[in-house]
Amino acid sequence: MGVTKQQVLDGLAKVKSPRGVALTSGGALSAISVSDSKVFLSINVDAAEARAWESTRAEAEAAVRAIPGVTIAMVALTAERQADAQPPRQDHHHGRDQGVQPVTAHRPPRSPASPMSKQSEIPGISAVIAVASGKGGVGKSTTALNLALGLRDLGLRVGLLDADIYGPSVPRLTGIREKPTVNDEKKMIPIVRFGLAIMSIGFLVNEETAMIWRGPMVMSAITQMLREVVWGTLDVLVVDMPPGTGDAQLTLAQNVPLKGAIIISTPQDLALVDARRGLAMFTKVNVPVFGIVENMSYFQCPHCGTRSDIFGHGGARLESERLGVPFLGEIPLHMSIRATSDSGTPVVESDPDGPHAAIYRAIGARVRDRLLGVIAAA
Ligand code: ADP
Repeated sequence: MGVTKQQVLDGLAKVKSPRGVALTSGGALSAISVSDSKVFLSINVDAAEARAWESTRAEAEAAVRAIPGVTIAMVALTAERQADAQPPRQDHHHGRDQGVQPVTAHRPPRSPASPMSKQSEIPGISAVIAVASGKGGVGKSTTALNLALGLRDLGLRVGLLDADIYGPSVPRLTGIREKPTVNDEKKMIPIVRFGLAIMSIGFLVNEETAMIWRGPMVMSAITQMLREVVWGTLDVLVVDMPPGTGDAQLTLAQNVPLKGAIIISTPQDLALVDARRGLAMFTKVNVPVFGIVENMSYFQCPHCGTRSDIFGHGGARLESERLGVPFLGEIPLHMSIRATSDSGTPVVESDPDGPHAAIYRAIGARVRDRLLGVIAAA
């Protein structure tokens, strides 16, 4: 039933490299992944030639998309470092990125050699904002979704893009099981739930597939989810970023046209250190940080409502003051926030008149005000 790799290769037969060699015979193709009607592949190029390859990339993508049965095609340029082709650089060789030089990572913003370093605005979307955290598990996705709903309650048209490619949790948090459909131009149509236009890489691939993607593949997928999705008219698109402050996050922060970022932290010291790194990352790429939200700030007993400051609450507020960044609010660690998130109906939706919804809406109002401030100052 599904598309085969051979069909993909046949579809690519006429696509030529910038040197006029058939793409399928030049050895540049790698990592073809076919999952039912969805095709992901990468072309290995020399980072210095990335710009010249962009039209080949686009042509390959169009060719794959034209194969009967293909609904989604994503083609990325990857720059594999050749040990003998380039002298090793001393600066940033660390972690799993060693040996791979993503096309856009490690470069100053708007490098002329990078085809994706265009901070162009997205038609129809007034503002894109990021929800980030220095590490995973601090409640970033839960906060991003409830914040999006809080902004919706303020009368804004809101979208949510789950860019947490290493662990997309928006499908679980929203209970969305269906796949996005495509229109006549083969652009994906986001799924509308709770009045939000929602898109997640988790709708397209399973978590394991996303996990093995390399930097440029991640960027390409996110670029497509931003630009090749029929978002319609939105006041705000909330992007749930991958946790952390590594190369993938930095590349994203520098390539997505962000009007601002919100950093989620828990009160523990360790998480605050990570939050500081997040702040440094956005500052580096000139994205204003709207403020810090302290999640799991204090424990609120679901039975008697008594509050316990089990993590020594208030750290994020103090840290915000120290760093001169606004403090956007504190969200308690509460059973109903966890239970509603994990059952697919977030608390702002399931208990709109409850205290937690009010907290998210108040944070939403502060975010909206900061956003309006940035837009007015532009
Ligand atoms: P992240 O995106 O940072 O990895 P998630 O939003 O997926 O984190 O949250 C991790 C877990 O913590 C989830 O089970 C979620 O329901 C729970 N959680 C998040 N925020 C709260 C909160 N304020 N109170 C209770 N549970 C929470």
